[in-house]
Amino acid sequence: MVDVIVVGGGIVGMATAYHLVRAGAQTLLIDRADPGRATDAGAGILSPETNSRDPDAWFHLALAAVGDYPTLIKHLQEDQGGDTGYARCGQIVLAVSEDEWAPYDRARRLILSRQEQRGLPSRDDLYELSGTEAQELFPLLTPVYGALYYRQAARVDGRLLNQALRQAAVHRGLIIEQGTVDRLRIEHGAVTGVVVAGTARAADAVVLAGGAWSAAFGAQLGVEIPLAPQRGQIIHLGLPGVDTAAWPMLSAFRGHYMVPWPDSRLVVGATRESDAGFQPGSTVSGIQEVLSEALRLAPGLAQAEIRDIRVGLRPLMRDTMPVLGSVPGLERIWLATGHGPTGLTLGPYSGKVIAEAVLGQELSADISAFHLTRFTTQSG
Ligand SMILES: Cc1cc2nc3c(=O)[nH]c(=O)nc-3n(C[C@H](O)[C@H](O)[C@H](O)COP(=O)(O)OP(=O)(O)OC[C@H]3O[C@@H](n4cnc5c(N)ncnc54)[C@H](O)[C@@H]3O)c2cc1C
Repeated sequence: MVDVIVVGGGIVGMATAYHLVRAGAQTLLIDRADPGRATDAGAGILSPETNSRDPDAWFHLALAAVGDYPTLIKHLQEDQGGDTGYARCGQIVLAVSEDEWAPYDRARRLILSRQEQRGLPSRDDLYELSGTEAQELFPLLTPVYGALYYRQAARVDGRLLNQALRQAAVHRGLIIEQGTVDRLRIEHGAVTGVVVAGTARAADAVVLAGGAWSAAFGAQLGVEIPLAPQRGQIIHLGLPGVDTAAWPMLSAFRGHYMVPWPDSRLVVGATRESDAGFQPGSTVSGIQEVLSEALRLAPGLAQAEIRDIRVGLRPLMRDTMPVLGSVPGLERIWLATGHGPTGLTLGPYSGKVIAEAVLGQELSADISAFHLTRFTTQSG
C-alpha cells in the first residue's frame, strides 16, 4: 500500500509524482510509455505573454506556471535531476504575408493592451520590431509585415525535463513501474487503488495523468472526459556550422512556429490534426505542411538537414483547457490531464497544484475554472 498512485509518466504525471515525493508522500508511478507520448514531441515554447488564443483563466494559470519554472529548475538541480534545456531565448510573433496581417494585428493589440493593463512585461522586454531588426535577430527570416518581440520568452526540452523530473523524483524515493493501468479499484464511493495486469495495487489516492489516453477511464468513473488526441508532427532540422544559440523563437499566424536550440538545431512545427486518432506515425502530408511553412518563414532553410521527425498526441479537451481536480461523486481520485498544446507550459505547475490538493495542503493556485464539472454545468 502506498500513499498515492500516479497513472501516466508524461510531464504532468511525472511532475505530480515529483512534488508528491518532495512532500514526503510514498508514491508509485505507473506508465505505459505509449509511442506518441506528447511530452516526447513537444516544442517547448513557454510564453503566455505572447499567447493571443486562450481564455483569461488559462492566461493566469500559465503566468503562474512560467513564473514557477525558475524555482522548479533550482529544485531539480538540488535533487540531481540534470539538464532541462530551459532558457530565456526570446520570441518573435510575426506576420510574413498579407493574409496574416489581420490576425497578427488582433494579437498585437491584445498582447500590448495586456502589457499596458498589467504594467508587465516592461517595455524593454516586449516591443515591436522593424523588419530589419527582426532579421538581425533571426538571420534566415524572410521580410516581415509586422513583428512583436518578447525578450523573456523561454523554452524547455520536454524530454530532458521529463527525464530530470524522473531522476529527481527517484532520488527522493519515487517508485516507477512500466505497465498499463487497466482499471481503477472503486469501493464504497472511493478509489482505493488500480489494477495492473490483473494485479491489484492499493493506494490512499490515485491521480490520473494519462494524457490523450485519459478519457478511457471516464466510463468507470461515471463521467465523460471530453478529450481527444490531436496529432502534432514536428521536425528537427540541423544547420551545420550555424550558431543558432542566440536566435529567438518565431511564431507566425498559420499555426506554426520555430524553436532554435544551441546545437545548430532548429525545431519546426507543427501539425494540429484532430482526425488521426491514436496513430503516432508521421505522414507525407504532415511533413509537407511543416516543411512548407518553415520555408515560407525562412527560405534559407532549404539546405538544412533533417535530423529527426517526432510525433505526439496532444491531449485536447473540447474547450482546449486542462482538467484539474477531483471527480464528482467519488473520493480519493484526481484528474490532471487535457493540457492540449500548452502542457509543457502548464504541466509542471499543474503537477505541483494537484500534489498539494492530494495532500490536503493549501493550493498555490485557484484551479476551480479547470474542474470537470464545467462541462456538466454548461450542458445544464
Ligand atoms: C508537436 C507538439 C508540440 C508541442 N509544443 C508545445 C509547446 O511549445 N509548449 C507547450 O507548453 N506545450 C507543447 N505541447 C504540448 C505538450 O507536449 C503536452 O500538452 C504535454 O506533454 C502533455 O503531457 P501529459 O503528461 O498530459 O501527456 P503525455 O506526455 O502524452 O503522457 C501521458 C502518459 O500516460 C501514459 N498512460 C496513458 N494511459 C495509461 C494507462 N492506462 N496506464 C499507464 N500509463 C498510461 C502514456 O503511455 C503516456 O506515457 C506540444 C505537443 C506536441 C505534440
